[in-house]
Amino acid sequence: GSTIGILGGGQLGRMLSVAAAQLGYRTHIYAPDSKSVAADVAAHHTQAAWDDEPRLAAFAAASDVVTFEFENVPVDTVRFLSGHVAVRPGVAALEVAQDRLAEKNFVVSVGGRPAPFAPAPDRTALDTAIEMVGTPAILKTVRMGYDGKGQAQLAAPADADTAWDAIGRHPAVLEGFVDFAHEFSVLLVRGIDGEVRYWDSPVNVHGAGILASSSLPAPAAVAGQQDAARALMAEIAEALDYIGVLTGEFFVGADGPIFNEMAPRVHNSGHWTIEGAVTSQFENHIRAVAGLPLGDTATTALPVVMRNLIGADIAAVPALLADGRAHVHHYGKAEVRDGRKLGHVTWAGAEPET
Ligand code: ATP
Ligand code: MG
Ligand code: MG
Repeated sequence: GSTIGILGGGQLGRMLSVAAAQLGYRTHIYAPDSKSVAADVAAHHTQAAWDDEPRLAAFAAASDVVTFEFENVPVDTVRFLSGHVAVRPGVAALEVAQDRLAEKNFVVSVGGRPAPFAPAPDRTALDTAIEMVGTPAILKTVRMGYDGKGQAQLAAPADADTAWDAIGRHPAVLEGFVDFAHEFSVLLVRGIDGEVRYWDSPVNVHGAGILASSSLPAPAAVAGQQDAARALMAEIAEALDYIGVLTGEFFVGADGPIFNEMAPRVHNSGHWTIEGAVTSQFENHIRAVAGLPLGDTATTALPVVMRNLIGADIAAVPALLADGRAHVHHYGKAEVRDGRKLGHVTWAGAEPET
């Protein structure tokens, strides 16, 4: 059988491994951390640093194709692997998505509209950025942020010092605060032949910067901006010669979708596709990177509600199991921490009981 190498060892890698197994593939997880919930369900595991070239070469030799579930894999790692094995999606997508400033400039270059933004590489530049963007605003580190980490809000220019300290004085980008009605995502998959398919766009609700839930049907305002947002994401996928699942996060703006950020991978707001669509994002990502025909992305059941189990929420699992219509996903992480995604639960064709 064939082996798919996956860079990164979290729950996205775990769900990709399950989908790959269903199609007869083995997966090989490569991740630096000793604990990997993906490795628990994969056939092979290499625990090594991102710059361990002998181990990377061995991983490449053991894989028919390599993909990633984590967008902060160093670009040099993927460049090195690309000399030995096909990596899908490739370096271009990873490079753009790792750098919020490069990503926004790229999106503008293909006709997208992010919130007003300005670079803040240092404290002095932040003052200039505040003059350009105004307040309220959000300061975000250019690199490494996720789940709202590395971000600070500025209600007024006087908050500059506090915000700059709060994000650890790292190079950042200042973004105008968007007074949005809703947030939604575009989930697409692009095949090896360039074919693009989309799942329906869910409405996404965040709490403290972390995704709390994704639901369908989405409000009419989301459905009304879905086509414009899809067209932008298709441009992006095309420009990057993208293969696999690509996600775009958007705000519903007064005159069209406002681009927030993209993820060059399967995404938390697409977990509902496991039970709520003909083909899940995980299966279609595997199909795409393995060069197989794409599966149908149609929604099969409405309503669909996906809720994350974050930190102490995981204690609700017994009660959720007692609700026979709840699809419970427990990621098997050993350590419960505040703000950590430990599982999720999906209702498809049924309303949550609680
Ligand atoms: P992810 O885990 O999705 O990668 P992240 O850490 O990269 O998250 P963002 O997506 O930039 O963070 O922001 C997290 C959330 O904070 C957004 O989904 C949105 O709810 C809110 N937010 C971010 N930027 C803005 C903005 N400019 N205006 C209003 N709200 C915002
Ligand atoms: Mg992000
Ligand atoms: Mg986000």
